[in-house]
Amino acid sequence: MEFIKENIQVINDNIERAALNSGRKKEDITLLGVTKTVDTDAILEAINFGITDIGENKPQELARKYDVIGDKVRWHLIGTLQTNKVKYIIDKVSMIHSLDREALCEEIQKRAEKIDKTIDCLVQVNISKEESKHGLDIENVVEFIKNTSEKYKNINIKGLMTMAPFSADENEIRNVFKGLKDLSLEIKNLNIKDVSMDVLSMGMSNDYEIAIEEGSTIVRVGTSIFGKRNY
Ligand SMILES: *Cc1c(COP(=O)(O)O)cnc(C)c1O
Repeated sequence: MEFIKENIQVINDNIERAALNSGRKKEDITLLGVTKTVDTDAILEAINFGITDIGENKPQELARKYDVIGDKVRWHLIGTLQTNKVKYIIDKVSMIHSLDREALCEEIQKRAEKIDKTIDCLVQVNISKEESKHGLDIENVVEFIKNTSEKYKNINIKGLMTMAPFSADENEIRNVFKGLKDLSLEIKNLNIKDVSMDVLSMGMSNDYEIAIEEGSTIVRVGTSIFGKRNY
């Protein structure tokens, strides 16, 4: 699977260039390999070529692969998380990128407390206001974060996550990323207890360079590493 090595090399070069373009350091950006539908052999290959963090969007799929791969990498849950599936991943993930409603906070709190773990989470924000996109509307984010940090002690909010619209218009995409960065700065200035805004999870195969130029610290890349997915 030589192509995985080559793809990762190309992406790392692109990350470095986008970072330099915007006066940042490549070390400040994590390449999160999105491995949904990808088999464990290919994932292990990517790990050999330097991938340290992987993201899955289906809890049971994450759990199944975790049984094979274990703690060699950090595991991230990306995408909509149903409350009844938190139990499959709570002891395995380093970060949940899709905190977006109180019922989910309640469930994460309950499960995390049971195993005496604190879970790093990102709040998913619907910047682009597309109907199909999940996440909180911008105007509800501050209240949600204040409430969560106060009530749910085993949840640590580390930053924000968003998905750009499926658009060919680079300016539209860039503005979504700018919007998330601005919101994170606004929240940082509020100095909410136990809340940091150090992490911005934004950018996928089609737009990760733009995202980095706008301040992304985690880019979530699947297709450009592993090839087109067969659903
Ligand atoms: C699938 C997925 C990605 C990766 O998308 P690619 O276009 O394959 O890079 C990133 N983030 C989320 C939430 C996803 O579901």
